[in-house]
Amino acid sequence: MFLLFLKGMSQKSFVSVLVLVFSYVVIVLSTPPEDPIKCSSSNNTTCTITNSYGMFPDRTICQASQALYPTNEKELVSMVASASRAKTKIKVATRYSHSIPKLVCPEDSNGILISTRYLNKVVKIDVVEKTITVESGVTLKDLIDEASKNGLVLPYTPYWYGLTIGGLMGTGAHGSTLWNKGSAVHDYVVELRIVRASGSDEDGYAKVEILNENNDEDFNAAKVSLGVLGVISQVYFFFKVMSYK
Ligand SMILES: Cc1cc2nc3c(=O)[nH]c(=O)nc-3n(C[C@H](O)[C@H](O)[C@H](O)COP(=O)(O)OP(=O)(O)OC[C@H]3O[C@@H](n4cnc5c(N)ncnc54)[C@H](O)[C@@H]3O)c2cc1C
Repeated sequence: MFLLFLKGMSQKSFVSVLVLVFSYVVIVLSTPPEDPIKCSSSNNTTCTITNSYGMFPDRTICQASQALYPTNEKELVSMVASASRAKTKIKVATRYSHSIPKLVCPEDSNGILISTRYLNKVVKIDVVEKTITVESGVTLKDLIDEASKNGLVLPYTPYWYGLTIGGLMGTGAHGSTLWNKGSAVHDYVVELRIVRASGSDEDGYAKVEILNENNDEDFNAAKVSLGVLGVISQVYFFFKVMSYK
């Protein structure tokens, strides 16, 4: 019908119709936000950090002397130990830095950033027990994808795929649900590994603490800790009642 309509048109009208049609076509290209950390040298020194909006609410960005990118817990421990030995303050940054407030800003430009960008692996899935262990830089998207491949679902997630597990735990992020314990993701964490600065030579200036819901009174504090108690390296989730298979 539309083609017949076009066929009977003069060339001028045809061009006008084309212009009209294309003026309503909107091309949408979606790309993830840039790395929020930018450094001016190749060894990641003299850096700035912002959030995924490009600036904090006071229209500034923050500075850091260095950005470090551990790829596993051992490297993370060594980085925290070096900073602790040198009495340098650390902030934990994530792949996209979605929080609006200045949570990730070091106190001044001498502070360092430890990014969880490459702590992004799924460590273990136990289909029988319906549990999953991930590194803290794994995104919500990767967690949901990996869970669903194994017949598990998270009915309590925030509505944004790009959050990391460390970041959403740090701020107590939640979705909405009447299911089970409620909508906060950290309520379904049963254990976490956190790397803490110790300030003492005796334990190498940093230590890994394993905090468990059954045996540790610090567990609740560490779950929503805004990154001030240490760097969470791994998180162990419990999915028991959320299986859909
Ligand atoms: C578009 C959009 C939609 C959102 N939707 C929701 C929603 O539906 N529900 C909701 O509750 N929130 C929502 N939020 C808020 C969001 O959940 C939080 O801002 C979350 O903290 C962002 O996660 P992130 O991985 O980007 O962490 P960041 O913002 O980078 O970090 C948050 C805090 O966690 C700390 N941290 C990060 N990783 C670690 C770690 N491994 N160890 C220790 N500390 C760490 C950081 O130092 C920082 O203090 C939304 C945000 C955006 C931008």
